[in-house]
Amino acid sequence: MNFVEFPDRQPDNNQQQKKKPEQKLGGNGPQIWGFIAVALFLLLINAVLQPAIKQRSIVQTDYGSFIAKVEEGEVEQVVITGEQILYTAGKQTYSTGSVDDPNLVDRLLQATSPNESGKIEFVKKIQGHRSPIIDFIMWWILPGLLFWLFYRAMFKRMSKGAGAAGGMGMGNFMSLGKSGAKVYADTQVKTRFADVAGQDEAKASLQEMVDFLHNPKRYTALGAKLPKGALLVGPPGTGKTLIARAVAGEAGVPFFSMSGSEFVQMFVGMGAAKVRDLFSEASKKAPCIVFIDEIDAIGKSREGSYGHNDEREQTLNQLLTEMDGFDGDKGVVILAATNRPDSLDKALLRPGRFDRRIQMELPDLEGRKAIIQVHLNHVKHDAIDLDVVARATAGSSGADLANIVNEAALRAVRQGKSAVTTADIEESVETVMAGEQRKNAVISPEEKRIIAYHEVGHAMVAAAQTDSAPVHKITIIPRTSGALGYTMQVDEGEKFLYSRDYLLNKIATLTGGRVAEELICHTCTTGASNDIEQATNLARSMVTRYGMSDRYGMMALETRGNAYLGGASQLTCSDQTAADIDAEVQRIIADAKDKASRIIAQRMDKMHAVADYLLEKETITGEEFMKILNS
Ligand code: ADP
Ligand code: MG
Ligand code: ZN
Repeated sequence: MNFVEFPDRQPDNNQQQKKKPEQKLGGNGPQIWGFIAVALFLLLINAVLQPAIKQRSIVQTDYGSFIAKVEEGEVEQVVITGEQILYTAGKQTYSTGSVDDPNLVDRLLQATSPNESGKIEFVKKIQGHRSPIIDFIMWWILPGLLFWLFYRAMFKRMSKGAGAAGGMGMGNFMSLGKSGAKVYADTQVKTRFADVAGQDEAKASLQEMVDFLHNPKRYTALGAKLPKGALLVGPPGTGKTLIARAVAGEAGVPFFSMSGSEFVQMFVGMGAAKVRDLFSEASKKAPCIVFIDEIDAIGKSREGSYGHNDEREQTLNQLLTEMDGFDGDKGVVILAATNRPDSLDKALLRPGRFDRRIQMELPDLEGRKAIIQVHLNHVKHDAIDLDVVARATAGSSGADLANIVNEAALRAVRQGKSAVTTADIEESVETVMAGEQRKNAVISPEEKRIIAYHEVGHAMVAAAQTDSAPVHKITIIPRTSGALGYTMQVDEGEKFLYSRDYLLNKIATLTGGRVAEELICHTCTTGASNDIEQATNLARSMVTRYGMSDRYGMMALETRGNAYLGGASQLTCSDQTAADIDAEVQRIIADAKDKASRIIAQRMDKMHAVADYLLEKETITGEEFMKILNS
């Protein structure tokens, strides 16, 4: 190739220059050649098979043997057409040439036959014999046409999915079915910002994009460039997908949505083709929003991936290229969501790509109230004490809360109520957290007693400490999750920081169950396993992550994996220190248990009073509990 062929080549044109020849190749050349080749093949087969099909199971005979068979009375049926005679004898059909035989009719009339009537059935078909043209069309043109239509349909799918990258014609035939790229735009998104409760910072940030989509000129007139893409980052269920839809809904523009995993295909190059498709469709529909959900599926950092993944890498490269080649003024806004921002390729995050990062956090107290309210708007409900519910659901995501409201509605329906009540929602909070009640589980009185003292032990230790969340509810109704009972503590307000004392108290509370078993029932049971796990995790975190041990102070001893998905953590210290950490953790828990023992030993009579009440009622509220304590 020499330079003269592309005299007006400019760097900016790269994209188009590259695309044109590809499209041409993918569009016409191979299609026609492929068609001709396969059509020829088909015709060849046709030519070989046609006579065979036509003559199938008909035996050619001469006229003499036809007459002989007639006279012997073997013939059942005779069909005379213009130039041939078909006749059946036994189960076989024969044919013979038609001879100018004036006596034929007489012979047939006189002959006997194995038919029921004893006579040969015979007809003369007036069918003006089929013209050779019709024959030709039937056997040659029609199959060719059918094949051509089939080929066209297949090729269309292929060039849509694999596009130019898929390469040329026949070679890619195998992968036809796999691509099936469905780039579909939702043109009437109903979701609005009002459907997304809380998340005010995210909304404010996205509002600008909505304005831009409404009125791009206002921005371009000033020379302002809006970020091409925004990355929604946050734990699962915080409404990332929801808010992306809401942006499209607010702006009233088409919404192209694809999940990152949809790009990762079996065949190398297909994902890249899909990306190209998505963007070319989107630029046709601009202004619009392109949303790539779970982008980490393709956007994972390229370095440090063992055993390279060509397909994913190509797809990512294509995405980067498309984002660069995009004219931001056109009004295509690219949104992406992930809960693993740390694993994303740096190239995705540089300016000009996903340079705006929108953080979606787990809702706080007010946020939870708002989310519950939004979802309550869709169900019939009485006055609901939002505060109680919101406080009881600390740490829940928007998706959890949506689920809780729905569970409550289902429960109300089950019980034949006409509206959802606070009790329904409280119960469904517990259902979502601990599973359904197992009312008919058979538990022996002795075990019930141990369970009751265990739970009251937790509650008693919690109540006796000042810097500790108040007891909200104690229950010994078993749940499907395997919990035989539990003590629910609910913080009064929202907590963002936890002090050392608070955590130590929490560990003491966790040990309270086992302490009660030992002091009162003189036994220890497996029921404390979950408490032990939680207490150990807390104590370990205090030492390794929160710098709350006297021994190590503010030394970081652990690195954490993904912050949103609760990834595993790793110790970053010598084996010697690891052993010392274990000793430190053990000491913290032992101290906490001593404290719990002192608390319970001093309040034996109250322990018995509450446990008796609990055994009788199975569930007691925080107020009832405090009333007994203070009596
Ligand atoms: P993500 O994509 O962050 O994992 P989604 O957007 O899919 O979470 O949220 C799942 C569901 O949770 C939503 O369909 C919605 O019902 C509910 N939800 C989550 N966050 C909110 C919120 N802020 N306001 C209202 N509903 C929410
Ligand atoms: Mg999502
Ligand atoms: Zn317990």
